[in-house]
Amino acid sequence: MLDIAFSLESAFGIRLPHTDLLGRASDYFGEENIIQDGVLSEFALELVRRVMPEFERKHLRAGLKPMDFRRLITVESLIQVVIRLLEFKSGLVCPACSGRFGDSKTAPELECVACGLTQAYPSGEQALAADLAAAARQIGFPVHSPKTIATSADSRP
Ligand SMILES: [Zn+2]
Repeated sequence: MLDIAFSLESAFGIRLPHTDLLGRASDYFGEENIIQDGVLSEFALELVRRVMPEFERKHLRAGLKPMDFRRLITVESLIQVVIRLLEFKSGLVCPACSGRFGDSKTAPELECVACGLTQAYPSGEQALAADLAAAARQIGFPVHSPKTIATSADSRP
């Protein structure tokens, strides 16, 4: 899987998240809210339903173990993440001139097509944290703003 991830990152100019949804959700919402008695909590199941709609619903039942959840993740889910990150990337604008970003020809980074300003690719964690926060808010789980979450995730060692 790591080789595939690296190829996708190079091909599309994105940075994939380093942890899966359960890892990210545990970081943001506290592991005790995600895994309870060794299985996914009801909150975690609902997060998966909303953030990974491609995940087979019949598997999302009470008693699902993290190991089994990870085993059920398919290439389709990886593709969905890539699509999501490409959308996020295409929505970015240059902070200096509000121009559009393209891929730099000389380095693996973004380059403004208008003024040439370069910027690192956005992290996958950042893009997907916003989705998790939005889903949690819909469910009614108290969360900080996506920006706060993204920042704390980025500063993790
Ligand atoms: Zn610019």
